[in-house]
Amino acid sequence: MSLKYEKKDIYSSLSQEELDNANSYAKSYMNFLDKARTEYLAVEEAVEILENNGFISLDEKNILEPGDRVYFINKDKSLYVAVIGSGELVKGVNIVGAHIDSPRLDLKPMPLIEKSGAALFKTQFYGGIKKYQWMSIPLALYGVVYNKDGEKIKVAIGENDDDPVFTIADLLPHLAKDQMKLNANDFIDPEKMSVIVGSLKSKDCGEEEKEKVKQNILKILNEKYNIEEIDFARSELSFVPAFKTKFIGLDRGLIGGYGQDDRVCAYATIMAIIDAAEEVGISDKTMIAMIVDKEEIGSMGTTSMSSRAFDMFINKIIEKTNSMGVDKLEVYYNSKVLSADVTAGVSPEYEDVSDIQNGSMLGCGISIEKYTGSGGKYNASDANASYMSKVMGLFDRNNIRYQIGTLGKIGKGGGGTIAYILADKGCEVVDCGTPVLAMHSPFEVTSKYDVYMTYLAYKTFYKE
Ligand code: MN
Ligand code: MN
Repeated sequence: MSLKYEKKDIYSSLSQEELDNANSYAKSYMNFLDKARTEYLAVEEAVEILENNGFISLDEKNILEPGDRVYFINKDKSLYVAVIGSGELVKGVNIVGAHIDSPRLDLKPMPLIEKSGAALFKTQFYGGIKKYQWMSIPLALYGVVYNKDGEKIKVAIGENDDDPVFTIADLLPHLAKDQMKLNANDFIDPEKMSVIVGSLKSKDCGEEEKEKVKQNILKILNEKYNIEEIDFARSELSFVPAFKTKFIGLDRGLIGGYGQDDRVCAYATIMAIIDAAEEVGISDKTMIAMIVDKEEIGSMGTTSMSSRAFDMFINKIIEKTNSMGVDKLEVYYNSKVLSADVTAGVSPEYEDVSDIQNGSMLGCGISIEKYTGSGGKYNASDANASYMSKVMGLFDRNNIRYQIGTLGKIGKGGGGTIAYILADKGCEVVDCGTPVLAMHSPFEVTSKYDVYMTYLAYKTFYKE
């Protein structure tokens, strides 16, 4: 028997039945990813899946019994889900939490300008991006806008086959001599990341009227959505890549698509709680799933993990299960959490930024990351050894293929997740998610088998 720890690829060891399961799970996931282009849409899609599986709104229930399945939508952009267990809440609950916001280009509050015969939307990038990756690719426009009567209008343009798309026209190499001398951080000025939305002049304007292309765009928007320019100030509209999720490679082993950080773990979290509830019937521990917003910008705001809305949700569970008098802090203290977020996979041509022994290889399973942060573990959520032991033991007993990872070499960068916020509440928590290549790019890459293993790992954690 070897005493060495070795990473093993999953594909070589799965039975044909398991390979087929992985393939069909991957296809459902890819379908979800194509629909869940924003946090609003991720919540809508998740709620539809939950309702189809017997989950109802928490507001519809005054009393919660073991086996009950409920969800709570926090301001359209984050979602908490519970399956009530038969045991005492004070002994803790099992929580899996992922995020559903992804890097993108948000519209500025007053976005529409006209320059050199083009109408443009000015943007402000959201989350950590390499700006050049977003130039000269097809973009789709998604989000919501409220008109002056307070009506909410949903916008989705760019992904149906007959939809137009949008783009940022990058500078041609012939005239980029000065630009190419700048370093990669500076050569795209974020103030110039304006997206082309039109080029035709309105025929209704008088001769002397300026900005006829802008006028034409406003007219089109008014006819289609009944909105005026001022209404942009009451909108949340974003450009995201306008291409569909695809298998990558002649052997179709990888998945390429936008927003896999962290909708790959979000989808797994939702499917895992549904299937765990189905498979165990009534469990001892209450299961909680959450998919939250604003992780990419530091988990600030009402729909982020930092929001006390989650505490309110737990209060409601305590109240409605007739567990009055139970201290929410004690529930947290005894709870176990998987912080379901992706991590960096070792990139074939950039192995030098990874510590291979401590890196996550695509295809070798879900990655457990004991700690995140950067440098001397600054801002890290560092899981307790005793909790690592529990999670690893659970996965070992249930044949979950996992690997032990860190984000990269010390000093090469760093990152964080929602883990520290749950640690702050007193929960045991460890990061545990799918390895990704080209994270935060318009086309992120995962392994089909890691994606499937992520779901199996979360389901096992709930069933424990
Ligand atoms: Mn993430
Ligand atoms: Mn991220």
